[in-house]
Formats: sequence, C-alpha cells, structure tokens
Amino acid sequence: MKHRNQVFDNVLDLVGKTPLIKLNKMASQFEGNFYAKVESFNPGHSSKDRIALYIIEQAEKQGILSPGDTIIETTSGNTGFSIAMVSIIKGYDCVLAVSSKSSADKIDMLKTMGAKVYVCPAHVSADDPRSYYEVAKRLHSEIKGSVYINQYFNQLNIDAHYASTGPEIWNQTEGNITHLIACSGTGGTISGTAKYLKEQNPNIQVIGVDAFGSVIKKYHETKEFDEQEIYPYRIEGLGKNLIPTATDFDTIDEFVKVTDEESAHTARLIAKTEGLFVGYTSGAAMQAIKQLGEEGRFKKNDYVVVIFPDHGSRYMSKIYSDKWMKEQGFFDSINVEAAQSIEY
Ligand code: PMP
Repeated sequence: MKHRNQVFDNVLDLVGKTPLIKLNKMASQFEGNFYAKVESFNPGHSSKDRIALYIIEQAEKQGILSPGDTIIETTSGNTGFSIAMVSIIKGYDCVLAVSSKSSADKIDMLKTMGAKVYVCPAHVSADDPRSYYEVAKRLHSEIKGSVYINQYFNQLNIDAHYASTGPEIWNQTEGNITHLIACSGTGGTISGTAKYLKEQNPNIQVIGVDAFGSVIKKYHETKEFDEQEIYPYRIEGLGKNLIPTATDFDTIDEFVKVTDEESAHTARLIAKTEGLFVGYTSGAAMQAIKQLGEEGRFKKNDYVVVIFPDHGSRYMSKIYSDKWMKEQGFFDSINVEAAQSIEY
C-alpha cells in the first residue's frame, strides 16, 4: 500500500491516488455538490503520469521494452514530462515530438527531465511530414529498439484510466457520483474513467469538454468528420483536428464547447477562489460546469466530479501572465487597467 506519510522506493510509487477536493466557491450559485479530482497531485503534476506508467509497464510485461531502449511520443507536454520521468527511473531514452503551440516552460521542463525534444509546427495537417505525428512515426522507424506510445491511438490509454482513475473516483464518492465532467484530448481520461463508472452505475452522466476549433463534439453528434469545424485555438491538450481511437464515444453522453477566453478567466478564478493553482484545461472543464449550471442542469443532490488535469505552474507565460492575456485580447471586454490587478 502507498501512503503519503510513508517512505517510497522512488517517485513512481506516488502516481495516482490523487485527492478529490470539494469546490466551495466556484459552483456555489448552482444546486448540487461539486468536487474536483486534482490530478496535479501526481508527482509529474498531471493525469498523464497514470498512462505513462501503465503503458510502459504493460510493454515491459509483454517483453517489448528492456532497459536502454527508446520511448517515443507525440505530446503537448504533459505526457512527455510523465514519460521522461518514468524513463529516468526505469532506464530508457526518451524522445519527444512536441507541438510548437506548447509553452516554452513545458519544452524547457522536458529537456530538464532528460528528454530529446523535436519542436514541430502546430498549424499543419496531421498527415503533413512536418506534423508531430509524422515526425514521431519517422523517428520510430529510424531508431532501433524504439517503442512509440502513440497515446491518441492506443487502447492502453483508456485502460490506464479504467484501472485507476475510475475506481478511485467511485471509491472516493462512495458510489454517489452522478456526473463526470472531463476534458477530451486523446479521450483516454474520460473514456476509461467513464467506462469503469458506468459499469458500476449506468445512470452516471458523462460530459466531455471540447474546444471551439476542434472536431470532437460534432463527430460525437453526427459521426462525421467535419473539416469546417477546424481552426486554431489556444487551449493546450483539449480537442483535436482528428478523431482519436483512444476516445470511446459510446461512453460519453454529450460534449460541451468552451472558449479560450472564458476558460482562461475561469482558471484564474479557480486559483483566486479555491486556492487551487490549476492548468488551462481545468479552467475549461469548470467553464463547462458553469455553462451547464446556467442551463439549470444540476439538482440539489447531484454529486458532480470534474477532473482538473494539470498544474498552473505550466502556464505562467500564458494564462497566468497579464501580458499574454492582454495580447490575446482577453481583457478587451473588461477594463484593461483594472484587469492588471484583477480582483475576481
Ligand atoms: N488537459 C491537459 C492539460 C492535457 O494535456 C490533456 C491531454 N492531452 C487533457 C487535458 C486531456 O486528457 P486526455 O488526453 O486523456 O483526453
């Protein structure tokens, strides 16, 4: 058994078992009880620790990986950090193809964790040879003894959350959860967690959070890939310009779309009101709750769990920088002077 007051063999023993923390202010205007699964308590500060450890250990069990081998991945940063951390402890080389949309902080962190990083342009199609998918595939074919994690198209991504995040939430809520709200990037978190929870209680409502500029919500509703939906947006790690097979659309009841601007302000508000310093997509997930709450979707006895995927420290040069917020025009609708020292 792992406990936080014990001594651990290495940092990997701390992956998972993250706390569920009541939100006392953020949704207090709505009926219902709201709790956040705060994934920044993982040692790599995000939910991606779970999939990195799980997928690498599955590969070891199958004899695909042995020490000295190379692990390759495409990543917006968090998965890369987690794979780099696991690689250090287990003795693998880590090579990462990263989108140029990722913050400089994230890229520096990956290098600090010993990863070799290739920065690839964000606004090219997935099949462009310069895209991070294609770069990763090429490196996989070139580097002997390499394993490509391929989180967007790997069933083990779903299995990792089915094995850990789902049971944790079920036990922490003592089976009382009524709604799960989670961002969908690869879709692994929401699909694996939802699959486990719905096996326990099929009435649990599962709501995915998508970005404007992403095809996921429309695909869920129409089963058609609509290129018209695609345009650049700023939230990292949420939504997609392709359909990942790591998303099990049948486990998700509906998707809600959120804007870059509102998600950024909501993340800042979570820090100011709950004392929880969380990432951009945590703001997005909370923004989705706000939109649903305003539609009167929550009732008095509802037990709503929202997943906060990562830590705010990864966004210091973005949503937590007044300068960046101003450059994006995110302060335009409110007084700019006042916004520099904003009191929410
Ligand atoms: N938030 C952040 C910050 C992420 O990096 C990701 C992963 N891309 C997600 C949310 C979405 O998680 P998943 O990939 O499991 O859908």
